[in-house]
Amino acid sequence: MPEGHSIHRLARQLTDVFGGQRVRVSSPQGRFAAGAALLDGHVLTRAEAVGKQLLVSFDGADLRAGADGADGHRVLRIHLGLYGAFSFGGDASFVGASSIGAPRRMGESENGQDAGDDAEYTGPPAPVGAVRVRLVSDHGWADLRGPTACEVITAGDVAALREAAGPDPLRADGGHDDAAEFARLLRRRGVACGQLLMDQAVVSGIGNVYRAELLFRAGIDPYRPGRKIAEREATDLWADAVFLMHDGVRLGRIVTTQRDPHHPVAREDVTLDADAADIPDEATRFVYKHTGEPCPHCGTAIATAVMAGRNLYWCPGCQH
Ligand SMILES: [Zn+2]
Repeated sequence: MPEGHSIHRLARQLTDVFGGQRVRVSSPQGRFAAGAALLDGHVLTRAEAVGKQLLVSFDGADLRAGADGADGHRVLRIHLGLYGAFSFGGDASFVGASSIGAPRRMGESENGQDAGDDAEYTGPPAPVGAVRVRLVSDHGWADLRGPTACEVITAGDVAALREAAGPDPLRADGGHDDAAEFARLLRRRGVACGQLLMDQAVVSGIGNVYRAELLFRAGIDPYRPGRKIAEREATDLWADAVFLMHDGVRLGRIVTTQRDPHHPVAREDVTLDADAADIPDEATRFVYKHTGEPCPHCGTAIATAVMAGRNLYWCPGCQH
């Protein structure tokens, strides 16, 4: 499942290529036809991530639906879930507008055609497979397939959604309020901290990879109850999440081994500031999917178990 950093990247890309433009919205597959009709032909103002949810705002979208949203504001809410992914394509200006650059991974599938390589862009290709939503501007297109959630919501719904979401390490502005709030939410319950880190009401955007790696880096046993986490440990966890997840946005992949809190260089095969694209997958994480391998710190075999419905990985030797 894409974690928060990839949703932030996706939001940035959507804003870059569609922001401020009138967009045709359709549902080639048909399942989102009514929602698409509400947004079709309106200006896409911006996309943003709230935790693992993607919110795409449209100005002046249709008001026939009711009295709410008197400003004519409609928001497309998307949760990619396990299988959802966007693909993009378009002319050179479309690709050039992206702060992210060349085609790359979005969600968990490759980013569509070799956008911009064609000498002439002649419009979007015929939809392939179950395209839930298609966005089309003068210069390019985006197709969404397989999301868990895809619906049109109001400004009021967005406010409620923000209210319910825990602090987001990728929205942290450097102030201490978010760290303190995270510590409070984590430490008030007797539930295992490995489970609490996956609870979007406690912290937004952390998924299975970051949960395992953050706890390993902090030396915290995932089964330790939130209540038994010291305040300092909680604020350190927060700071590490801010650091690692911003790195994830920048690199476009999760790499937790480049800077090790315990050793200057984490692994023999990973050097500081190595080009992230050159790091082999297995070297980008300490414990995630390293079951049975020796812990790089203490040599104990990495363990695995299911927690909160997902595979958990940790070192029983140095996480307490
Ligand atoms: Zn260990």
